[in-house]
Amino acid sequence: MRVYTHPSCLAHQPGPGHPECPARLQAVTEALRAAIQPLEWIEAPLATREAAERVHTKALVDAIFDARFDGEALVRLDADTAMSPDSPEAARRAAGAVVAAVDAVMAGEVTRAFCAVRPPGHHATRETAMGFCLLNGIAIGAAHAVHAHGLSRVAVVDFDVHHGNGTEAIFAAEPRVQYLSSHQHPLYPGTGMESDTGVGNVVNAPLPLRAGSAVFRDAWRAKLLPALEAFRPQLLLVSAGFDGHHLDPLADLELTAEDYRWLSAELADLAARHCRGRLVSVLEGGYSLTALRECSVAHLRGLTAA
Ligand SMILES: [Zn+2]
Repeated sequence: MRVYTHPSCLAHQPGPGHPECPARLQAVTEALRAAIQPLEWIEAPLATREAAERVHTKALVDAIFDARFDGEALVRLDADTAMSPDSPEAARRAAGAVVAAVDAVMAGEVTRAFCAVRPPGHHATRETAMGFCLLNGIAIGAAHAVHAHGLSRVAVVDFDVHHGNGTEAIFAAEPRVQYLSSHQHPLYPGTGMESDTGVGNVVNAPLPLRAGSAVFRDAWRAKLLPALEAFRPQLLLVSAGFDGHHLDPLADLELTAEDYRWLSAELADLAARHCRGRLVSVLEGGYSLTALRECSVAHLRGLTAA
C-alpha cells in the first residue's frame, strides 16, 4: 500500500483554534506509521494548473495558485475557510497527491493508494473554496482519470459525515463519473437530498442524527454498494472523512472505527471484482484526533484485507 503525503500539508494554517488543524494530519501519519507495515511513503507532487482547471474556474485556480498575502498572516475565503502563506502549496500538494495516485494505480505500479493530505477538498465547487476546502482534490483526480487515462466509469465514494456538495455539483452532469455519498442530514452544507440524482450518476443516502452502525451499514448494503456494483467502475476513488465517528466534535453520528474498517473492506472487495483492485482513497474530514488515529488505521486495514 502506497501513501502520498507532503510536509507542506502540515504547514497550511486555517486560523487560530480552527478544527481543521495540522495536528489532524500528524495524528493520521503517526498512527499509520506505528500500526501498518509495510507502507510505501511518497512525497506528493504539485497539482498543475491544467489538472485543477478541469474542475475549477480559472478565477478560483488563480486565487489559490497566485494568492497574495501582502504581509497578512491569513486571507479569508469564507466564514470558515482561510489561507496562510503555506496554503497554496498545501492545496496543490493535496490535489497533486490524488493525481499521482491515479497515475500510479492506472500504470499498475500499485493497486491501492491513500492520500494523507490536508486541506480537505470535497466541499470546493467549480468556482468557490468553502467548508475548509480550497481545491477539490478528489474531483481533480477523477477528472484526470477521465481525461488523461480515457476512463468512462470512475466512481467517487464519499463516506465523510458531510455531503460532498462540491464533488456532486462538479460531476452532476458528467455520466462518466458516479458520485455516491452517505452523510448526516441535516448538517453543513445542507445538500445531498435523496432526490438529487444528477444524470442518474449521483446517489445520496442522508442519515438521521445519531445514526450508528446499523443504519450506516444498511444504507451502504441496501443502496450505495448495489449502485456502485451496477456502475462497474474502472477506478474507485474514496473521499475518506472520519467525522462520522462518535467522538467527532462537529457532527452527531455514532460510528466506530470498526464501521470504517467494514466499509473499506467492502470497497476493496468491489474494486478487486470490477477494476483489478484499483482504488485511491483521500483523507477528507475528521476532527477528533483519537478518532482520526483509530479510523485511519481501520480504513487501511480494511482496504488491505481484500
Ligand atoms: Zn466532513
